[in-house]
Amino acid sequence: MSAQLLQGLPVARALRERTAQNVAQLHGDGIVPRVAVVVATDNESTGWYVRSIAQQAAKASIHCDVLDLGAQADAAELTAALRALAADDQVHGIILQTPLPAGVDAAQLVRLIPPEKDVDGANPLSFGRLAAGMPAFAAATAQAVIEVLDHYRIPLAGEDVAVIGRSMVVGKPLAQLLLQRDATVTLCHSRTSDLANHTRRASVVVVAAGRAGLLRSEHVGLGSVVVDVGTNVDDQGNLVGDADAASVQSIARALTPVPGGVGTVTTALLMLRTTQSALERSVVPA
Ligand code: NAP
Repeated sequence: MSAQLLQGLPVARALRERTAQNVAQLHGDGIVPRVAVVVATDNESTGWYVRSIAQQAAKASIHCDVLDLGAQADAAELTAALRALAADDQVHGIILQTPLPAGVDAAQLVRLIPPEKDVDGANPLSFGRLAAGMPAFAAATAQAVIEVLDHYRIPLAGEDVAVIGRSMVVGKPLAQLLLQRDATVTLCHSRTSDLANHTRRASVVVVAAGRAGLLRSEHVGLGSVVVDVGTNVDDQGNLVGDADAASVQSIARALTPVPGGVGTVTTALLMLRTTQSALERSVVPA
């Protein structure tokens, strides 16, 4: 048996169609949706990611401002930039790109992004709202996992779902989203004893640990679905996930590829959310 590959591209395409509908409505109302990306690094992979955001925005007729403050930017410059964007009514989405320069506290800065413009779900207020069941943008990667599972009609209600990784970027917000969908969630981490004992029981396993080859066939139950969020570079310079795909494929019924899986969906989601934020604020009070 070989697992079905749950490709991200069809999921991203479906999201882009929704974005296009929102953009048409906004343009009809004379509004240009606008997203700002704040960058303060010369990290190569960040540069690549930011260019892909700008390209997708251009294709979607969304205005994208990339504010590159340089790798030497300090907290005061970043604070000023974020405050200006937060106050600018023309800006509907704000993304603070990591990594940030050494000594700059990202946790302080993300608090400056108003939740309604927090399209990447970075502000802890957004997470708090999510956990409280209030409307909020969940961390985009966490939401991307749900979009993939929904697109391929993987059931969640009543299912046991194991998530490996408890970061604020993936694991914790994803656990909240899964709870909202009535899954029974087990959140695993580096101190979890006997990882396989938890993951083998799950019908869906999401791995987001940043450890190549962490998830192998002995960790997954027969016929389960594996979502691989991990992005690692192997010895040959190739991008690989956290699952040992060859090993897992013999047991799981479906698996997201890396590259081409969850990561493909995240940027499309950022665009959709920018339009949703713009639509929310375009409503004229009666
Ligand atoms: P992170 O902040 O480093 O968190 C990693 C999590 O994995 C931690 O909770 C850690 O446990 C857990 N972990 C590490 N080793 C483990 C092990 N051997 N067994 C069980 N749990 C283990 O990483 P992150 O930002 O969440 O990112 C995770 C991965 O997703 C990375 O590869 C990253 O590149 C990728 N990612 C992809 C996208 C995308 O769009 N595709 C977006 C974001 C992140 P502790 O809490 O105990 O340390």
